[in-house]
Amino acid sequence: MTIEPKIPVGILGATGSVGQKFIELLSNHPWFEITELAASERSINKKYKDAVNWILSSPLPQQIGNLEVKKCEPELNCRIVFSGLDSSIAGEIEEEFANNGYTVISNSKNHRMDKDVPLLVPEINADHLELIKTQPYKGGMIVTNPNCSTIGMVLALKPLLDNFGIEEVNVVTLQALSGAGYPGVASMDITDNVVPFISGEEEKLETEPKKIFGKFNLNKIENLNLKISAQCNRVPVLDGHLECIQVKLKNKTKINEIKNAWLTFLGEPQKLRLPSAPLKPLYYFDEDRYPQPRIHRNIENGMAVSIGRLREDPLFDYKFVILSHNTNRGAAGGSILCAELIKAKGYI
Ligand code: NAP
Repeated sequence: MTIEPKIPVGILGATGSVGQKFIELLSNHPWFEITELAASERSINKKYKDAVNWILSSPLPQQIGNLEVKKCEPELNCRIVFSGLDSSIAGEIEEEFANNGYTVISNSKNHRMDKDVPLLVPEINADHLELIKTQPYKGGMIVTNPNCSTIGMVLALKPLLDNFGIEEVNVVTLQALSGAGYPGVASMDITDNVVPFISGEEEKLETEPKKIFGKFNLNKIENLNLKISAQCNRVPVLDGHLECIQVKLKNKTKINEIKNAWLTFLGEPQKLRLPSAPLKPLYYFDEDRYPQPRIHRNIENGMAVSIGRLREDPLFDYKFVILSHNTNRGAAGGSILCAELIKAKGYI
């Protein structure tokens, strides 16, 4: 039996909150091997261990710590780049890489709503990868990972959409500090406090699901017509976004049928047995006090969404609470799953 060599990958924005999570998750990956790390002027030409303020509890792997941090220019010795770049500069840099033959998997908002760029949640819209064939990039491609709060919400909504149809959604989020990057929100702002504003977040939650749930038709996505209202809050939790969701369904149903739809939900990554795919994308808890960030964020390596508190709602039809890990499923883990799907489907 021949063993396929691992695909060399680079991380743009390797020193940031998402970049560090990429390093943790890719360090023992069966298909991918980190060969390049890149970040800003502040970090380049330094050894990674000297440039980074490592904030994860797992130790920084020695061989990664000794890699030199390079400029974010398309001269990196790798095939795929995972981007955890700040959105102020991500757009152009990612295009440059795609134009030079790299497969770019991005966590930034810049290209998410481009007509020819898949906004991918592998369990939901694997067929949107066909958009890659319409991209103008010379030899390369850009695929994007949705906003971290969007990912958890759409995974919980997908079985409801498929089984009962959805008319309207209302969501109130309680989002973790790591979602603001490093060093993030000032301690004087968030200690003993909640901040009821996250710049740009509500718009993302209200628009991205329409594209993700859209239909791929004749080389483009027809967005789903869905009314969503979002309110986003920053809370003093380190990792894990909690979201209180209300839904109005097209076809009325019973609580047990909704729970059953969640518990039986599987997608393409589970069928393909992709290395980062959770065995079950959705977990439902009957305990009234669940889900909770500290207790449930790491289920299935932070790749599963935890759901609880499903009950009837006097305004909408039902309400429930979800929890998903913002830097795993919501960023680095979700992006790695996208790359695995792209490889498994033969796009690279
Ligand atoms: P972060 O901690 O602030 O990290 C930003 C990274 O970008 C750092 O590595 C930084 O390098 C690099 N960078 C900044 N300016 C640069 C420049 N001019 N040229 C090259 N590199 C530059 O942010 P983050 O939380 O990891 O987020 C990264 C991206 O992912 C953002 O677009 C964010 O919206 C998105 N995202 C974040 C999360 C999350 O939960 N945190 C979830 C989903 C999506 P230096 O350290 O060298 O300055």
